[in-house]
Amino acid sequence: MNIEDCLADFPITQHLHYMDSAATSLIPEPVIASMNEYDRQYRANVGRGMHRLARVATQRYQDAHDTVSSFIGGKGGTTVFTRNTTEAVNTVAAGLDWQPGDRIVTTVTEHHSNLLPWLRLRRQGIEVTILKPGPEGIFDIETVDEAINDNTKLVAISHVSNVLGTVQPVRGIAAICKKRGSYLLVDGAQSVPHFPVNAQDMGCDFLCFSGHKMLGPTGTGVLWMKEEFIPPFMVGGGTVDDVDIGDSTAGGYILTGGYKRYEAGTPHISGAIGLAKAVKYLENLGIDAIFRHERKLTEHLLSGLAGIDNVNVYGPQDIKNRIGVVSFTIDRIHPHEVAYLLDERAAILVRSGEHCCIPLMKHMGLKKGTVRVSLYLYNTLEEVDLLIETIEEIARMV
Ligand code: PMP
Repeated sequence: MNIEDCLADFPITQHLHYMDSAATSLIPEPVIASMNEYDRQYRANVGRGMHRLARVATQRYQDAHDTVSSFIGGKGGTTVFTRNTTEAVNTVAAGLDWQPGDRIVTTVTEHHSNLLPWLRLRRQGIEVTILKPGPEGIFDIETVDEAINDNTKLVAISHVSNVLGTVQPVRGIAAICKKRGSYLLVDGAQSVPHFPVNAQDMGCDFLCFSGHKMLGPTGTGVLWMKEEFIPPFMVGGGTVDDVDIGDSTAGGYILTGGYKRYEAGTPHISGAIGLAKAVKYLENLGIDAIFRHERKLTEHLLSGLAGIDNVNVYGPQDIKNRIGVVSFTIDRIHPHEVAYLLDERAAILVRSGEHCCIPLMKHMGLKKGTVRVSLYLYNTLEEVDLLIETIEEIARMV
């Protein structure tokens, strides 16, 4: 299937121009169908029964992990399903064995989900160093290297900024972390949906991302980990090999291995199946082809916005350092007003405000935030033209 042919799978695009995929993407019909199929035809709990429906559901749930794992080159590690990126990051924050004197290095560009868990640890006495980027939001490897010392247990950084679209040099950062003996957590919420990401090649220890930003259902996310050295956030049904209430030497229970250790209780089964279908959908189109399509749209958008008076665009100018997440402001108009007008006048849906990045907004001196356009495979050049024209009209009003 070509990208151009996939629009029929997103019927909502007939009525509006959805450019808020960094918040959550649209979901294609085959993904919805795969979830309905589970509920209608083989709904059963997983890993818990021998009847026919339980066997099918269990197999599909296992297959879903395998599909997602191979999509991110994660076969050598453990791919755990979570509710979202936030839960994945919090699982690592709660699980690492923090000792007095430990340090964390993170950045001012992080989404709150990859910042607040570290700030909470700071309240408990862990030192947190927050790096500030250059003007386009990029961190050079030397800056990260200098920030790491012998006590740095973890570096936590987003692969792509959800405000500036900046792509960070995570491979180089991973090499530095490895050399210096720090763990690396990469927030891949805005990278995994948009270009090929290979967790093992990248060299990170943890990769966190959300299914709902990559054509999957809400309530799905992933924590990939190179090794299973952190304890699970929760324990309960499905996480153990044995329980012996009389045996205190073994702690009363023996946890099982693999993703099951981390997924206590009945999981979001239809969500997992939908997420795997979403991954297959992306693979069918080709994640490289999606990346090229978005790049074409982004180049077009950036050159269109560059020519409009009163419009300020943030993030890298060079397309090589960014993806199709484009933040801008229009002088003297509140970002919420711009977003409202884009919807009213042209049915263009974008996000406005602080994008869960209050420290970054403060760092950039943007008290009211920005307007953020975020593009995906179902957007077209015609839509980008309409966006540019409408922004021009709004900018002329001031
Ligand atoms: N990190 C980044 C970079 C994000 O863009 C987002 C979502 N906007 C998150 C984390 C949090 O994702 P979720 O709400 O799915 O947990």
